[in-house]
Amino acid sequence: MKGESVRKKVRRINVNLDKCNGCRACELVCSAFHARPKYSSINPARSRIRVVTDEINDEYVPIRATNYTKAACDGRRVYTVNDKKYSECSFCGSICPVRKLFKDPDSRLPLKCDLCEDDPPQAEPLCVKACSLGALTYEEFEDEVPEEVKPDEVELGLKALADKYGAQKLADTFARISQKE
Ligand code: SF4
Ligand code: SF4
Repeated sequence: MKGESVRKKVRRINVNLDKCNGCRACELVCSAFHARPKYSSINPARSRIRVVTDEINDEYVPIRATNYTKAACDGRRVYTVNDKKYSECSFCGSICPVRKLFKDPDSRLPLKCDLCEDDPPQAEPLCVKACSLGALTYEEFEDEVPEEVKPDEVELGLKALADKYGAQKLADTFARISQKE
């Protein structure tokens, strides 16, 4: 949902690919922080940051989950890095229907990076703290940005379920569950 521009604090994670060695500590800490209950498990498949890895060429690219989209895009660029071809999807952070990436492996619900603002909110994103090589760095600054209401995790999950099963089925199911309680 977009509206007027407003001046507000922007939180940003910068990536320096030259410093990343593919250790995947960022994936581990992200999955642990977002586990339910918190820190009860470590599973990189549930991480909201994933490292695209090419060990032969010593290339590692950390990608964070960005937006949920119910339709796949129709553009497919190909990137060549050290003579190896990568599809555009390899470096895309969207949570989209044609990939398994950034979806909970059990429920298939979207896993979006929330900059560790989940309860309790972290002053600095945990993947940045875990990255001892400084490949991920964090900054905050004031900027003019479009006013936007960011959906939280529950809203994202409900949206994905509504896209999959239809809003009416979802509403009927809620009504049935509420009656049982
Ligand atoms: S923790 Fe840092 S160095 Fe390790 S994979 Fe993640 S971004 Fe790369
Ligand atoms: S900022 Fe937090 S939620 Fe986002 S990828 Fe890093 S650890 Fe995961």
